[in-house]
Amino acid sequence: MTKAIRIHATGGPDVMQWEDVPTPEPGPGEVLLRHGAVGLNYIDVYFRTGLYKTALPATLGMEAAGTVLAVGDGVSDLAPGDRVAYAGGPLGGYATERTIAADRLVKLPDGIDLTTAAAMMLQGLTAQYLLRRTHRVQPGETVVVHAAAGGVGLIMCQWAKHLGATVIGVVSTEAKAELARAHGAAHVVIGHADLPAEVKRITGGAMVPVVYDSVGRDTFMPSLDCLAPLGLMVSFGNASGPVPPFDLGILSAKGSLFVTRPTLATYTARRADLLAAAKDLFDVVLAGAVSIRVNQTFPLKDAAAAHAALEARQTTGSTVLVP
Ligand code: NDP
Repeated sequence: MTKAIRIHATGGPDVMQWEDVPTPEPGPGEVLLRHGAVGLNYIDVYFRTGLYKTALPATLGMEAAGTVLAVGDGVSDLAPGDRVAYAGGPLGGYATERTIAADRLVKLPDGIDLTTAAAMMLQGLTAQYLLRRTHRVQPGETVVVHAAAGGVGLIMCQWAKHLGATVIGVVSTEAKAELARAHGAAHVVIGHADLPAEVKRITGGAMVPVVYDSVGRDTFMPSLDCLAPLGLMVSFGNASGPVPPFDLGILSAKGSLFVTRPTLATYTARRADLLAAAKDLFDVVLAGAVSIRVNQTFPLKDAAAAHAALEARQTTGSTVLVP
């Protein structure tokens, strides 16, 4: 048998239950993994609350790192004992063992342990596509990063600085501001009430070419007001709730702005893109340009406590669940 955190209904953290489920057999093209570490991500909250839909009962979790136990028919590039990780699902990560399609797995280089891998795959691959593809950050640019002390945020601050950009981080507390500064944010704004005015002051009136906004409802409009003409609003999360429908005319009035609502799933749907992004991520981590901060660990069976901390904005950096 396998142990898993499952939900039978959507709701608060207490809908998560630690249950026995039969260990699955790997089908054609699949492998059976034993998880060494499971990543906690805000998307897990969206599935638990029902903001994102899935069939029930469901095992939560989009990201983990572990060891291959067995391979199904047709899997030739992986073997028992290989260390691998995945990010982006399908759901089923909150388990001691699981099956998954071999083509969603990435082999881990020697220098990356399972805990670091589980902490960085989903958040790091997200930082990769946001900074290298959604908008290709150029040296000398100034960019705004919301939730700058969070999992995605601390990786983005370091990576954007490494690319030669000046980061304006947005956080909710002075302690988080210090953390963001220590990880590459040149400027930090606490709260979003005065964000456009602060960005105007910091940039000498030029404003910024791109805002990376994972907070959603609370920050969408202030974020638009931080953009230079033709700027790009990257709305990639809903920590405060989804962005409500808005009048497209706002984009013309504020300077012919662009808006995108990207997902990691789109950017890594092709295996070649997944492997290229993972290589880019492993390179910056192994070179020391980006360090992965595992600032919280919880036993997997206590996933409810981890969710409560994440939703209460008590976590910083990445959080790992230990099976
Ligand atoms: P974080 O560690 O960043 O945690 C969320 C942070 O959001 C909080 O710590 C808090 O920081 C901030 N926040 C602002 N308003 C709220 C609120 N009302 N309730 C709770 N938190 C709030 O999480 P992750 O690194 O896992 O994810 C960051 C964001 O990126 C999420 O929105 C997630 O959905 C999104 N994401 C999107 C992906 C995509 O491809 N589209 C992929 C991966 C992540 P503070 O206290 O400083 O405000």
